Amino acid sequence: MADASGLSQVVAAIDTRDNFLITAHIHPDGDSVGSMLALAWALERLGKRVQRVLAERVPLSCQTLPGVEKIANPSMFPPGTVFPNAIVLDCGDLDRIGSTQRLFGPSTFIILVDHHLNPRSLGHVSWFRPEAAATGEMVYDLIQALGVPLNHTAATCLYTSILTDTGGFRYSNTTPRVVEMAAALLRLGVDGPEAARQAFETRSLEATRLLAEVLRTLQVSADGRLAYLILTREMLRKYHTDASETEGFVNYARALVGVEIAALFREEEEDGRLQVRVSLRSRGHFNVHTLAAAFGGGGHAKAAGCTLPGPLSEAVPQVLSKAESLLNGGGVFD
Ligand code: AMP
Ligand code: MN
Ligand code: MN
Repeated sequence: MADASGLSQVVAAIDTRDNFLITAHIHPDGDSVGSMLALAWALERLGKRVQRVLAERVPLSCQTLPGVEKIANPSMFPPGTVFPNAIVLDCGDLDRIGSTQRLFGPSTFIILVDHHLNPRSLGHVSWFRPEAAATGEMVYDLIQALGVPLNHTAATCLYTSILTDTGGFRYSNTTPRVVEMAAALLRLGVDGPEAARQAFETRSLEATRLLAEVLRTLQVSADGRLAYLILTREMLRKYHTDASETEGFVNYARALVGVEIAALFREEEEDGRLQVRVSLRSRGHFNVHTLAAAFGGGGHAKAAGCTLPGPLSEAVPQVLSKAESLLNGGGVFD
């Protein structure tokens, strides 16, 4: 495999070190959380000290995963805490780990394991495999390479990684290899239907009412090739929900017949400033990574995102006009 050196470097770094921070990107999803929990479990099997840290709340898809209760928030560590080693998963940009950055110092040895297109950061050791369906697929290989036999606990976490990043084995990243891995995980006793229910069919009453309101914002443009939804902070407040319960909302726009690009614009406040997080999905051949990258974001060809400053009234038109111009010429289609 062309990336074998990345994997062996990660193995060597883990084997020779101790005391690791394991983290992943903000707006955590099933892949990032499942990968973190599985790898942390494996490192503990090797007798290593590990802290699982995330800057933001775990999504519903992961709230019943074994070990989820061990995930700490960066604010729980005394000021000045710096880890000697950090493993950053499912994230090719160190700016995307949010406030977990405060646990890094100049002496921190950084290991990156990621499957996004065009990662922006390099660790002291980096292993990038954009062809992997999920970071969980890479962590599966890593745990094997570390010589730790998988058990039911780790298998459950990895199954959720793969299940969520392939959209339940529906997206174009669903390779024979990843389905074979999922089969091996099921043989270890993973409860597949339960993982799927938790990932895709679990929603609180409040979040369901919120979804109804978000769906009322649906707009289409570019002759129906572009569909988008809006989620304001006011809506989140009204339904007492937080962003971790809105995973998958964008798929309602993606499901529209004739759509090429689906977007969900989510307004949020960060350090007193308004910003808009944009989730982008491709229904067909359009590469939404190029659209996200135009605004400094990233992701994959069929699922990408970016963050723009300002209120919705400024951010939304910018993204729509770029999307329309890419759709009408100059965009990348596969
Ligand atoms: P989301 O819409 O948040 O589920 O993200 C879809 C994909 O795009 C995921 O793989 C994210 O990691 C990636 N992504 C989202 N926002 C950004 C961003 N601002 N920069 C880079 N990648 C992003
Ligand atoms: Mn992710
Ligand atoms: Mn991923």
